[in-house]
Amino acid sequence: MSDCKFEILSPAGSFDTLVCAVNNGADAVYIGGQSFSARKNAVNFSNEEILSAVRYAHLHNAKVYVTLNTLVADSELKEAYDFTAFCYRAGVDALIIQDLGILHMVRSYFPDFEIHASTQMTVHNAAGARLAKEMGFKRVVLSRELSFEEIKKISRSVDIELEVFVHGALCMSYSGQCLMSSFLGARSGNRGACAQPCRLPYTLLDKSGKDVSGRDKYLLSLKDLCLVDEIDTLRECKVTSLKIEGRMKSSDYVSIVTSIYNKYRNGGKVSGEDLSILKNIFSRSGFTKGYLNADTGRHMLNYNQNNDKVYSNISESVKSLADELKSITPPKIPFTAKACVSMAKPMELTVCAMGKTVNVTGSIPAQEAVSVPLTEERIISQLAKTGATEFELGDAAITLDEGVSLPVKEINELRRSALSMLTDAVCLPERLGVNGQFQPCIGSAGFDGKVSFNAEVMTLEQAHAAAMAGFDKVLVPYSLYEKHKAELDGLPALAAVILPPIVRDMNPVDDDILPCEVYASNISQINYASGHTVTADFRINTFNSYAVKLLKEQGVHSVCLSPELNLRQIHLLTSSLPAELIVYGRIPLMTVQNCVVKSAHGRCSCTDDVYYLRDRKGVKFPVFTHKGSCTNTIYNSTPVYMADRLSELPREGICAYRFIFTTETPDHIESIIFNYKNSLKYDGDFTRGHYYRGV
Ligand SMILES: [Zn+2]
Repeated sequence: MSDCKFEILSPAGSFDTLVCAVNNGADAVYIGGQSFSARKNAVNFSNEEILSAVRYAHLHNAKVYVTLNTLVADSELKEAYDFTAFCYRAGVDALIIQDLGILHMVRSYFPDFEIHASTQMTVHNAAGARLAKEMGFKRVVLSRELSFEEIKKISRSVDIELEVFVHGALCMSYSGQCLMSSFLGARSGNRGACAQPCRLPYTLLDKSGKDVSGRDKYLLSLKDLCLVDEIDTLRECKVTSLKIEGRMKSSDYVSIVTSIYNKYRNGGKVSGEDLSILKNIFSRSGFTKGYLNADTGRHMLNYNQNNDKVYSNISESVKSLADELKSITPPKIPFTAKACVSMAKPMELTVCAMGKTVNVTGSIPAQEAVSVPLTEERIISQLAKTGATEFELGDAAITLDEGVSLPVKEINELRRSALSMLTDAVCLPERLGVNGQFQPCIGSAGFDGKVSFNAEVMTLEQAHAAAMAGFDKVLVPYSLYEKHKAELDGLPALAAVILPPIVRDMNPVDDDILPCEVYASNISQINYASGHTVTADFRINTFNSYAVKLLKEQGVHSVCLSPELNLRQIHLLTSSLPAELIVYGRIPLMTVQNCVVKSAHGRCSCTDDVYYLRDRKGVKFPVFTHKGSCTNTIYNSTPVYMADRLSELPREGICAYRFIFTTETPDHIESIIFNYKNSLKYDGDFTRGHYYRGV
């Protein structure tokens, strides 16, 4: 039945948890270092602990992946390089990364270091997986929103390892596309500091302001995922790795969940008892199978539940099961030893385990015994004193001259040094070595032309208004262009198409209708550069100079920088490409597969219309529903406004100012460009975004 062996990949926030995961059947464990880890709050590993983690895991046939999956600013790249170098030398098996600059750095300096594309890269289709492979990734961690059919299609079309979340928390937004926590509280999910505003209650209002959800509900709080009874289906999808979420979770949780997934790793019927243990150790009002059956709706949400209640009491029996699992210790690793003690020569010792052999020679020559000579038994008994190590003595062959003596201390030291070298031999993979010292990226966009005013719009009416108001370019979503190509091509401003951030394999973009200029909203779309003028849009999360350099190498023509950068970071970024800065508009905070209107109404009523989510403070966030896909984009409550501060933005290499129009009327669009041409202050609510704070 099981021709493919799954990897069970467990989370660990501490060394103790890692040990529990390995002892309960994890084939690999992912951990974070002290910086650059997408779980800033988790008890992350110090460098010393990473060394111990690799040692422990490798001695017990498990792998260690380190998450370096946050966006990294230019000022932090050297530290990221140093940390990568440390992990590389420590024998970490792979790095899980998000940032394109980190990708560039790892490929340049650590060409044989295995890399996995974090779910933060929003790889969700075959084109994305193919590009990830071309860019050097060994594995992609797929977006959690995919169905079984889609996963299967990706695995059939691209020869790359696929890692799929099977258990634990789900995010409401596509990972890598969530700026909610970042813009609401300056705690960026992309920087490992998500404050989880999706777990708070909201009210859904329609266009007229009418409450359509009925009191505050947890409209964005998904239940936890559990796929333990879908192992057979996942095998059909040719998934490589089953990922358990939860680096913030306790060792109790990790032990129980790992051990249950290990128990069912070959499939089979899951007992009711095991399911209730999983629910008891942690769940949010039961589990969901997520998007795997392509079936969204309220049933996936922890809709009516206050999230404080989910940390319910763990039952005594589950607690004692956890204690039992945590006390499991792996068997010691047997090693064979060959020792040779000859007169007037230092002792020689050869030890072997797990396919590795180590030879050591002592420093003191054996002497003629004055009283009691050394015996074979004595040597064996000293070699067997492996104490707290992972080893135990198996077969031993001793060659010993008669009547010699050697201090016991010498035998002990030889044993210790041999076992330490054996551990290194077992634990440290052979690697090419680091390819040079880190150099900061010096890019030059070579652009000093006029700054273009680019207006992103959502409707035809806005497109006309923007073109008439004097914008140089009008950026329209693909769905609008598809319907009104001729009219948009005839505008007095150039029309460029913003490709959808999410393009499911069953619903592809019609490339034939695209205009010359396109904006790539996902890494899978930078390949359009072979036939189009491509701007890597802000959704690609370009955060540093090396990320821009990588995009340039991929043929991209310009880049809209991440709206999470502050002014200082932008000044430090030496862009190899002409760069666009968002200077006006509501930033999209969430890209949501699970339509909030459908969840509230019980059925989809998407009409390409706008709704609002109102939070507990009365702040209203526009929700655009996308007819056809029944998905949403949730925007910030207020626009970024910089008309009176344009002089503070960097000039060098900046080719365009980007305006994002969402709910604006044609008159409003006209007044906004007037304000920007005249550096006027704004008389409504606005935000400076991250320009003066950053994340
Ligand atoms: Zn819908």
